[in-house]
Amino acid sequence: MHEHPRCDHCEEECAPEELVILAQPAGHGELICGRCIEIMFRREIAKLPREN
Ligand SMILES: [Zn+2]
Repeated sequence: MHEHPRCDHCEEECAPEELVILAQPAGHGELICGRCIEIMFRREIAKLPREN
């Protein structure tokens, strides 16, 4: 059987090398793909106060 891991965010099957385990405090050990990381990263940046 050929099983592809799934992203826990968009629930799409991804290549294992594309998935990252999201550690706390950002996540709870779920798998996240490169695309979702980018989306999440942008969201986090938008949340940050602009200090410069
Ligand atoms: Zn994803």
